Amino acid sequence: MIQAKAYANHSPTDLLKPFVINRRSPKPNDIVIEIAYCGICHSDIHTARGEWGPTAYPFVPGHEIVGKVIEVGKKVKRFKRGDLAGVGCFVDSCGKCANCKSNEQQFCDHTAFTYNSTELDKVTPTYGGYSSHITIKDQYAYKIKKGLPLDRVAPLLCAGITTYSPLKRFKTKKGSKVGVVGLGGLGHMAVKIAKAMGAEVTVFSTSPGKEQDAKKLGAKNFILTSNPDNFVPYEGKLDLIIDTVSAQHDFSLYMSTLKKAGTHVLVGASPEPNHVEAMALIFGRKSLTGSLIGGLKETQEMLDFCAKKKVLADIELVPASRINEAYDRTVRGQVKYRFVIDAKTL
Ligand code: NAP
Ligand code: ZN
Ligand code: ZN
Repeated sequence: MIQAKAYANHSPTDLLKPFVINRRSPKPNDIVIEIAYCGICHSDIHTARGEWGPTAYPFVPGHEIVGKVIEVGKKVKRFKRGDLAGVGCFVDSCGKCANCKSNEQQFCDHTAFTYNSTELDKVTPTYGGYSSHITIKDQYAYKIKKGLPLDRVAPLLCAGITTYSPLKRFKTKKGSKVGVVGLGGLGHMAVKIAKAMGAEVTVFSTSPGKEQDAKKLGAKNFILTSNPDNFVPYEGKLDLIIDTVSAQHDFSLYMSTLKKAGTHVLVGASPEPNHVEAMALIFGRKSLTGSLIGGLKETQEMLDFCAKKKVLADIELVPASRINEAYDRTVRGQVKYRFVIDAKTL
């Protein structure tokens, strides 16, 4: 057993506080990672606060994990001591079902998610990356290239793959017109990745103060959503919308900016039901769909794409003692654009 320092909360209204967890000693196919940084995803907050349904407490959040491999099991070939490794939103899956075989482990019937889940034994709780160490089967960890600022790589493990996957699935390429709704952690990665794929990007935001940043991140257009008139010049212009909003909203106006047969993809997972007018889909035969992170192969592909294109997250590095403050600022839309925890401070 490895005793790891962590941060956890114990009820939906509890703050996150120091906590000690046990990580398993490495089995033949495991590696042990000394965590350097972990991003703060809004999903961590939804789960810590029980907004998506019951959470298994004590809860240790974090699924944007990067660090150094400090131990390797006897059978591990992909990693050696001293390598850099990343862990995303799941740590295991059955490996046998159709979804595992098609490299979409996130949809496996038995996925062991990185937190608020159990290992495949259905008993052992999983704890996330707000911790000093993690033990994981080497096949479920990602290779991270040396020479990159690791703290800015961490958010790729969730915010990066969650936006890369639908951008790629809907064939974003040079000249594609992509809308991004919400400029937070996922939204700012969507802007950067869509731009790196060659798209012209339009940001929809509730925050007037984010216009300059949106343009610096690579967006061509900025629509302040508080005034419906601002949508009118963009009607029928976009191929694809990536909607990253974390709270209840109405999709209809956004969908008016799609071309015929355009697609609005939800990645934001508002705990409350949302609203959409039937006519927003019927006229123009538009589609509304969703997307969940990405599988092992696609996540590694995204990391390699981002390394090649020099796409990194814009972050604010915080010590563990400021996690609760970072949560509140994220909920208020005041994150620029991802909080990342320095694991040394746990
Ligand atoms: P975030 O950093 O808090 O960003 C969300 C952004 O949405 C905010 O910055 C804000 O942008 C906008 N927003 C917030 N409240 C709003 C409201 N009431 N109406 C309209 N816009 C609002 O969160 P995140 O970490 O990017 O995560 C976003 C969502 O994606 C969360 O629900 C998270 O759980 C989910 N998620 C899903 C997946 C998946 O696989 N599908 C993966 C990761 C995260 P503006 O200030 O620009 O308006
Ligand atoms: Zn996440
Ligand atoms: Zn499976």
